[in-house]
Amino acid sequence: MLSRVQQRQAQRRVRSHASHLPGGTLLRGCADAVTPARVVMANPACDLDGRQPCEHALVDGGLNKALYDYEAVLQARFDSVEQTLQAVARLPRDETFPAQAQQLTRARLGFELPAEMLKRSWIEGLDMAALYAHCLFEAVRVSAKQAPQEQDDWLHGMVIDDEFIAECGYHTLDITPCADGRLQGLLPFVLRIAPTSESVLLKAYAGALFDIDLDLSDWTQRELAQRLSARLGARYLKMAVYHYSSSAPSKEGCAAHGSDEGAARSAAITRLEQLRYGVAHAFGAGLGPDILVLGLDTDLDAIRVHLPDAQGEPSEAVAVEAAQIYRETLGMPVAQARAHIMQSVDRAAASVGSSASAGLKRLVTQLIEANLSQIEYVIQHHEGRYAHLGHGERFICVGDSIDELQMRNLYYFAHLDTLEEGAACVDVGLNIFEKLNLSRGFPVPIMVHFHYASVIPGARERAAERCKRVMRGIQARYAGRVPDGALKFALCVSDVTGAESLCLIGEYCVRSVRQEGYDA
Ligand SMILES: [Zn+2]
Ligand SMILES: [Zn+2]
Repeated sequence: MLSRVQQRQAQRRVRSHASHLPGGTLLRGCADAVTPARVVMANPACDLDGRQPCEHALVDGGLNKALYDYEAVLQARFDSVEQTLQAVARLPRDETFPAQAQQLTRARLGFELPAEMLKRSWIEGLDMAALYAHCLFEAVRVSAKQAPQEQDDWLHGMVIDDEFIAECGYHTLDITPCADGRLQGLLPFVLRIAPTSESVLLKAYAGALFDIDLDLSDWTQRELAQRLSARLGARYLKMAVYHYSSSAPSKEGCAAHGSDEGAARSAAITRLEQLRYGVAHAFGAGLGPDILVLGLDTDLDAIRVHLPDAQGEPSEAVAVEAAQIYRETLGMPVAQARAHIMQSVDRAAASVGSSASAGLKRLVTQLIEANLSQIEYVIQHHEGRYAHLGHGERFICVGDSIDELQMRNLYYFAHLDTLEEGAACVDVGLNIFEKLNLSRGFPVPIMVHFHYASVIPGARERAAERCKRVMRGIQARYAGRVPDGALKFALCVSDVTGAESLCLIGEYCVRSVRQEGYDA
């Protein structure tokens, strides 16, 4: 008799033919050229066709279900952008067209198309690329607006939140994953960290190559706030996450490091060493942040944790592999499995005389346990290995993170304050979208997003100005390198001390030399 997973796999194989293409495939171009080959490889955590079901005692089934529902809602919302626009394109172009197009879009997507563009379509034709970008941006904003409801079911199930991080002895958990879209579900999915936590900072960079000066300034601000309020015990933890692909190691790994896993890991380690060195020499020995190096297999969402060495420096020698732990503890009752994880972390730490505190080891133990749920999530919902191993991002976000949007492969995120400093990350993103979108005649939608604090006078205006500056910088940098008008922009700001979230400052989607914009 087939197990539950096997039954579901059989169903999914039949169903998946229509929907396994990356975002943007259906409008134009040859779909076959980008259809990914299905890689069949054993899952290191569990035998999918073995006698023992892949159901681990430490896995939170309810949480997995809630996350899957959330993923399905976002997937459907972003998929329906293309389907709706294809339907709009098929409508007869008579005098009823604008009204019909609006009605269709409202019914299927829940928002409208820019009326001006529809009105002019009889003479200018329909600018589908502009409409496509506009609808994607609207879908992002709808997701942000509905995040409190749509994320509610899983947000409270996140084990690693402000309280837990504080219990481990940290006031800040500063996380830098790669900007790669496959890592943008990192917090709630892979690590089960509440993305709304005050103590969590998420700053993605191509190749996890974070900006040391910006990190130093974040460290200074956070430490100062602690000291001013006379809280002295807690520390700052910096975590860098490199990634690799176990199915296609030389092809689907980190683009910023030529898909070389070793290079990606040592680059992350070097950055962490430099940050610790910088803090120690600027402020005093022993003050450098605690560090942690994580590796992520983006095919399985399984993590590997490298503990710091005896001096607290990052090291690639010791690693605890979550997939291996899953296999070792499958079938154990909860208490026994927990004890096993703790022993594995202790053993790994002892083997290099790691200086990791009890709090850091507790956090690592929890990260591994949390990741067991994600490993099983991929087994239950994605046949144990994502069907789409490579890039499938639909837009680029530059600036500050969008906490309200958490999903693997939805967008490429490059954290930056100025384009001059963040240009390398945007270059990697544009290279990805050259293959993903431009090669098929699709535009590159870029959302520029900055946080501001409304309690600080003039902060919103400055954030809006910075959005425009970054957009103009990107336009100038890629002028002549991408087709005219192929870059579409939405500029947004979010208030970190108030309610405003992803508020649209302006959209620049219309194809024209002047990059004409209209106010929302
Ligand atoms: Zn990468
Ligand atoms: Zn910043």
